[in-house]
Amino acid sequence: MNTSRQDSQHRYENNNSRSHSIPTHLGFNRRIVHRLPENWRDRLPSPADYYAKNVEHLSRSTANGFAQGRCPFHDDGHSSLSVNVTDARGGWRCFAGCGGGDLVAFHMKRTGQDFRDAVASLLRGAA
Ligand SMILES: [Zn+2]
Repeated sequence: MNTSRQDSQHRYENNNSRSHSIPTHLGFNRRIVHRLPENWRDRLPSPADYYAKNVEHLSRSTANGFAQGRCPFHDDGHSSLSVNVTDARGGWRCFAGCGGGDLVAFHMKRTGQDFRDAVASLLRGAA
């Protein structure tokens, strides 16, 4: 009887000391909060939804998945912006010279955020 009680107490102490080795101090938690989830790209808004909200006069997409609209980065009267609304990366290009990239690059340019902040705000539902 006595021995089994000692055993269980010993196991308890083992568990206890193991939990102490998990770093839960503030620095560790802060690092977690600032790190993007590994699957962040899967959780971005769909390019079709995102560009529908952020590009004026967006046309229907053609067979190859591209739609045209007014570029928000210059005074555009000619729908110079082409966006891919079917590919998950949401590639875009402005034919008046504003550049191009993927959906994250578009959001960075539109909001002035750096890469990490832009992705984090997209994951929070910004559009
Ligand atoms: Zn432009």
